[in-house]
Amino acid sequence: MLPSFNHLKGGENMPKVNQPFRGIVMSRKPFRERDLLVKILTDARGPVMFFVRGAQRKGFKMAADILPFTRGEYVGLLSDEGLSYIVSAGETHQWQGIVADLDANAYATYLLDLVNQAFNEGRGIGGWFKQVEAALDQMNAGKDPQIITNVLEVQLLPFFGVAPVWDRCVICGRQQGTLDYSESYGGMLCFEHYELDEHRLRLDQRVVGYLKFFAQLNLQTVGEINVKPAVKKQLSWALDKIYDDQVGLRLKSKRFIQSMDQWSQSLQLARNEAVDNQESLDQTEELRH
Ligand SMILES: [Zn+2]
Repeated sequence: MLPSFNHLKGGENMPKVNQPFRGIVMSRKPFRERDLLVKILTDARGPVMFFVRGAQRKGFKMAADILPFTRGEYVGLLSDEGLSYIVSAGETHQWQGIVADLDANAYATYLLDLVNQAFNEGRGIGGWFKQVEAALDQMNAGKDPQIITNVLEVQLLPFFGVAPVWDRCVICGRQQGTLDYSESYGGMLCFEHYELDEHRLRLDQRVVGYLKFFAQLNLQTVGEINVKPAVKKQLSWALDKIYDDQVGLRLKSKRFIQSMDQWSQSLQLARNEAVDNQESLDQTEELRH
């Protein structure tokens, strides 16, 4: 369906004014022959779909301002009905470190996809704009994109109607000792209440610690977070499971990351096999001498 352009004429009772806003480009898709639809996370109204006329033409003046993984200052018409329009762009920057790195690129794409799902179009998102910006800054600076993503996965859960209790047993409130996550109770159980859920996730205590830590972490002030590979693996397993079972969200961008992990694992396996083969060849050589 073609978007309605009627509101551009501006009825008397609906004054339309261009306004400045900050934005992060979330996704783009071609529209008609020459135009683009660009989804931008705005500070003022959350994710907004913009119609950008002529954006697919050569020499389009705002081409650089609407590239993927770009943030900046824009002026435009933020419409409640139909499409919104960008009139001009001020200072914009592309996160080059994300563009250049396959991993960071995949995680940033998924993260923006998730943010798009979490917030309603057209509503303010408070401090979230800065938190998302900080997440992308961290990835751009080479911080572990999986961990940055896991932090926001934990923090966005309440927007999907899932608000786990991470820091205490949901039954008795105990905070000390070992805790484990139960999907059916929507939070942690202490060892005395483990028996209530035989399907509890049986998480490593370091994973439990990180989930609790991530829930209240400010990405704008955090330094390096170094997580061991085995713990990282279980962290993403647990969050994938919670998103699958409790949220029921299965995003294509997440599946891409999962298949990327599988490729790198089979690549590693192939390398190990190659090394093994080389070693046995070496041994055969030695035996011959
Ligand atoms: Zn308990």
